[in-house]
Amino acid sequence: MNGSALPSPISSSVDFERDGVQHGFLRLPHSRNDSAWGSILIPISVVKRGHGATALLTGANHGDEYEGPIALLELARTLRAEDVTGRVIIVPMMNYPALRAGTRTSPIDDGNLNRAFPGRPDGTITEKIADYFQRFLLPLADIVLDFHSGGRTLDFVPYAAAHRLTDKRQEKACFDAAMAFGAPFAMRMLEIDAFGMFDTAAESQGKIFVTTELGGGGTARASTIAIAKRGVRNVLKHAGILAGSIDAGSSIHLDMPSNDCFIFAEDDGLVETCLDLGDEVRSGQVVARIYPVGRTGLTPVEHISKLEGMLVARHFPGLVKAGDCLAVIGTIPRV
Ligand code: CA
Repeated sequence: MNGSALPSPISSSVDFERDGVQHGFLRLPHSRNDSAWGSILIPISVVKRGHGATALLTGANHGDEYEGPIALLELARTLRAEDVTGRVIIVPMMNYPALRAGTRTSPIDDGNLNRAFPGRPDGTITEKIADYFQRFLLPLADIVLDFHSGGRTLDFVPYAAAHRLTDKRQEKACFDAAMAFGAPFAMRMLEIDAFGMFDTAAESQGKIFVTTELGGGGTARASTIAIAKRGVRNVLKHAGILAGSIDAGSSIHLDMPSNDCFIFAEDDGLVETCLDLGDEVRSGQVVARIYPVGRTGLTPVEHISKLEGMLVARHFPGLVKAGDCLAVIGTIPRV
């Protein structure tokens, strides 16, 4: 049977059409050893007043990225219906099992939610969550803001991002919203593998989609949390859902023009980082060295930048494995 013909096993305790503030759950049945007829309760808030645009705001698509969940829990707690024209749907912890485990992927099925779209109503726990967003939440939205950071293994300069799209009007709307977020940087983002991403699901439904990379290392910093809190309100103002002027300096544009942006380790070892986040990079400059750790006297492997630009992301732990993303170089477009 085609999975998309089935109802979702997830039920919502909030009414998306009701005015006011509601805090509730998406209840996903999960029968298991410690709870025979148990379920997973994914927190959700809806704040609605009258008619207008709908924003879908999400965090912890990856469970070890914290700026989004913090900013969205604060927003859900403080946003009043009288502040809003239209509707705000807030899911601070999309992959709730992963958030609880402090891991990128789900501890239940090892599912990477951001590679699980469009999902399946009769699939794994993670596929069921993806399917619910795909078929029930995304269609409600006009604008989607999905918070990311680097998680435990990457660290980023703080940016809001939008993708190159074939529909140039949609691309501009997405990038305008990313600029409105008001992070220090605004990235025209290239994905290593866009298949199965929430981003792609939202964009293919014609939505205005903004994502972020705000830091990483498996934690959140005061500065990046402040960027997240300000950014989400800026995006709501940009969408006409909140009143008031956008509180943002002008973000510096960054681009990822080709796969030359990504530097991947081809060896296991100890990383010598030669640049810090935000440092300028010349073409041909050594970005990192990888030292083999088995013996002394060996020459480290040097990784050079093929591009001129800025170090926008780096591997966070001190040890790398072959295949790990070691660094990302963003370019600074001439204006
Ligand atoms: Ca992420």
